[in-house]
Amino acid sequence: MTDAAENLRLVKDRIAQAAREAGRPEQDVALVAVSKTFVAEEIRPVIEAGQRVFGENRVQEAQGKWPALKEAFPDIELHLIGPLQSNKAKEAVKLFDVIETVDREKIAAALSAEMAKQGRHPRLYVQVNTGLEPQKAGIDPRETVDFVTRCREVHGIEVEGLMCIPPVDENPGPHFALLEKLAREAGVEKLSMGMSGDFETAIAFGATSVRVGSAIFGERPYPPR
Ligand SMILES: *Cc1c(COP(=O)(O)O)cnc(C)c1O
Repeated sequence: MTDAAENLRLVKDRIAQAAREAGRPEQDVALVAVSKTFVAEEIRPVIEAGQRVFGENRVQEAQGKWPALKEAFPDIELHLIGPLQSNKAKEAVKLFDVIETVDREKIAAALSAEMAKQGRHPRLYVQVNTGLEPQKAGIDPRETVDFVTRCREVHGIEVEGLMCIPPVDENPGPHFALLEKLAREAGVEKLSMGMSGDFETAIAFGATSVRVGSAIFGERPYPPR
């Protein structure tokens, strides 16, 4: 077994354990394996170990490696977890099965138009900037419920879940709790929250998917190659 395949097994055990401790069924928490910066040969052993859900943060990088992998493994589900520019909406709708980073009207409109054009309907999440960090993508928490409603009523797109990335230097618990509350208020079911350093906490707060990169693939090469 490669290190990454072994790490995958350990992460899955930890997810199961955290779910048990939270009194939640283990299968209610999906694992998104975040493969950004890693090349196809590094990803393949993780697919062969049974993982099917992956996350990438850049459209262009994903276009370089995933079309061939998706052809080889048609049941792969690919999530976009990084910021989306509206001029990349076409490529994003074509390649991704879930887009987790819808955070403004312009993107909602661009995705809506592309989905109609391509007849392809990736599931959509709204990213919330729970820490109101100026450098970070995501909608203001105070505008989230209204935005979800506008996605449905103005743009004709259904939002399946909310996603957040808490500030690195803060206790993530309150951010996860806020996301859970906003999802309830917006009538949205899924919660994408928790990364390598805090996914067990996120599961305790109701995460339905966790996005785990370095705990599976190891430290990312820097600078990114
Ligand atoms: C990179 C990334 C992750 C994974 O981070 P790790 O700490 O390596 O698990 C999760 N979510 C997003 C949005 C990311 O960009």
